[in-house]
Amino acid sequence: MKNLLKPWQSSRPPPTPPPGDEATQRAQHRQDVFEDIERGHSGWFWATDAAGCLSYISPAACERFGLAAEDIIGEPFTSLFETDPENPGERSDRPLQFLLGAHSRLCDVTVRLVPDRCKPGTRPAWWALSGQPKFELTKPGSAKLEVGGAFHGYRGSARDITLEYERRIEDSRLAEFDSLTGLSNRHRISRRFDQMLAAFKGTMRPATLMMLDLDRFKQVNDTLGHPAGDELLRQVAQRLTRVVGTAGEIGRLGGDEFQILLADLEDRGKLGELADKIIGLISQPYQIDDNHVVIGVSIGMAIAPFDGTEREEIVRAADLALYAAKHGGRGQFRFYSSDLKDEKEERRLLEEALRDAVASVDGSDDSWDEPQLSLVYQPVVRTDDHAVVGFEALMRWEHPQRGTVPPTVFIPVAEDTGMILQLGAWALRQAARDAALWPHPLRIAVNVSAVQFAHPDFPGIVREVLDATGLEPERLELELTESVFMGDSETTDAAFKALKLLGVRLALDDFGTGYSSLSYLRAAPFDKLKVDRSFVESCTLSDQNSAKIIAAIIGLADALGMETTVEGVEAFDQRDVVCAKGARFIQGFLYSPPLEQAVLLQRMAAGELYIPPDGPKRHRPERRSVYRRIGVIHEDHRYEALLRNLSATGARIEGLVGVPVGTSLVLDLGAGQLAVVTVSRSEDATIGVEFETPLVSDGAGGLVTRYRASPYALAAAARTVSTSAPQFLEVEVRKRA
Ligand code: C2E
Ligand code: MG
Ligand code: MG
Repeated sequence: MKNLLKPWQSSRPPPTPPPGDEATQRAQHRQDVFEDIERGHSGWFWATDAAGCLSYISPAACERFGLAAEDIIGEPFTSLFETDPENPGERSDRPLQFLLGAHSRLCDVTVRLVPDRCKPGTRPAWWALSGQPKFELTKPGSAKLEVGGAFHGYRGSARDITLEYERRIEDSRLAEFDSLTGLSNRHRISRRFDQMLAAFKGTMRPATLMMLDLDRFKQVNDTLGHPAGDELLRQVAQRLTRVVGTAGEIGRLGGDEFQILLADLEDRGKLGELADKIIGLISQPYQIDDNHVVIGVSIGMAIAPFDGTEREEIVRAADLALYAAKHGGRGQFRFYSSDLKDEKEERRLLEEALRDAVASVDGSDDSWDEPQLSLVYQPVVRTDDHAVVGFEALMRWEHPQRGTVPPTVFIPVAEDTGMILQLGAWALRQAARDAALWPHPLRIAVNVSAVQFAHPDFPGIVREVLDATGLEPERLELELTESVFMGDSETTDAAFKALKLLGVRLALDDFGTGYSSLSYLRAAPFDKLKVDRSFVESCTLSDQNSAKIIAAIIGLADALGMETTVEGVEAFDQRDVVCAKGARFIQGFLYSPPLEQAVLLQRMAAGELYIPPDGPKRHRPERRSVYRRIGVIHEDHRYEALLRNLSATGARIEGLVGVPVGTSLVLDLGAGQLAVVTVSRSEDATIGVEFETPLVSDGAGGLVTRYRASPYALAAAARTVSTSAPQFLEVEVRKRA
């Protein structure tokens, strides 16, 4: 009390000698002291009556709240004050109402005036509220409060702790949130996921974990510095928040790793769409200081309870899916499936095998092994007269045991390990050497990975190759993708200048799939745009915008004085569409697959420089050949059969005889994937079926059902035994050669 009095005692006149008798003087003095404390604004007093209504409050408190005493006296104390609903006080997590109702002693309970009661514009304040219940006095006249008698209300005080409290909240925010991005941190997101899983278990609600890892973030950090890296992470966080909105909780685990928790979402179609949206948005260019920065993101997803019920299981599953997505070519999403477990080991073996393959072609291997890598050449054809105007060199890897490994699998491995530098230089040299042998001076296009392009030696290597092979520079076309624009723009500009000085042509490959920023086209000296195959694939579907996009890209290239080649035309109906949209050059299976150099030389020698289109009239969405045992459920009987081909809308199944057209079946595609189908064709032991709900992409070229039966439902179904006799004949089908 002494301390409290000091600061304002001096500002008041010295106490006048108290009049009257000593007791009155003392009472008067006490009154003065209380009034001084109340006026000092460092604390206030309050009291309630036996019914819990406010019976006294210091005038200074009313002033602070911007209220008049009459406004609040007589109101229930708990309708005026509350504990923080989001941050329960440290000392007691019981709400004020409970404490008062129980007539408990209050000791520094953190409260505020109920926001509805605050006068608009008053600064929010927090108070440490203390108070004692007052019971019937045992001795009349005694000030002592004793427990046991009738309750008479509370008497108490309060002290302003706003600053201290705000600091405490800020500290706990720091402990829960990532200070760079404001997203939840690892600690919080893990806790939230635990809570979610625990709450959902009983009700069997699904919860999805998305794990995200930025592609090429490290390069940005290394080339532009950490502040730029930080700014990039902040912008990524903003974009994630924009796509995810209130649908999920986003966390940053540290570095360039993010997680998203999504409650009640198990539809893999919707999840795939969301992942695609995230990938699309994160891959748009960023403006950081004066630099254009481009990164990508890979996403792995696992869904409880299908892929596990504990947090650790789901995290491990999503991690494996992320790993597969990163190594499957990046900028992809993947769902967890049990066959991903071996992917890490498989990847290590693939790297080793690729090392051997590279050694088999670049001269560092002195063994007599056959070269495993080769180049094939796909013609580019002029649409008005079917004349071949050039070829694109495409790499092929034939592994003695693995067979053909597609470039979409091994090129990313080569990029990650740096082997692409050797591999790319070899391809350039080999393609130039082969082209120099052609009897006609047709163009040769070679793919150049962004990693190769970013290497300062690259223009030098190109010059060396031209010198060594004697290939005219204007015959060589380098195919770059938009990822060359990531990172340091000075190096990129220098490389473009050096290559243009050499006189080689530059093409922008896969246009429309990446960031497609028009500013790149303005800044870089491209001679050609290659329209990506994905637009052609859907250009004949009426509900797609692909045909319009193709027209727009061709129009844009025309306006900028660039050529265009449309890739991946497989059928006449696609050719008709792209030609109507202005395509003058096409590269696709309708004209020719990639050919070996020997075949090419033969044809050129025979004067075959025109290729008429040849292929299917209509493009049919790809049906994948498969060979997989599945379950076929009809009424309460389960049959074993063979899945032979599969598209998003239908499948061919072998092994069942006598199934009438129109029969409704359930296919058990494994791992809880049950699909309702109708038989549309039935011949001998083969049936064709249509899916009631189309399958969706698994992110890696495979197809999966949107939904899965939960492990709980499967366990229950396994307990019910079929009783009726089978209606169809099950026959053994052997794999055909
Ligand atoms: P890209 O450069 O866009 O090459 C075109 C791809 O489309 C080739 O696949 C080609 O075989 C395929 N294609 C052409 N016409 C059709 C068609 O009508 N239908 C279908 N379905 N596909 C068609 P490929 O050979 O599998 O190569 C895939 C990708 O691998 C290439 O895409 C390129 O990005 C990369 N790649 C291939 N060779 C090299 C190389 O030597 N160096 C680098 N850095 N990347 C390469
Ligand atoms: Mg290409
Ligand atoms: Mg391409």
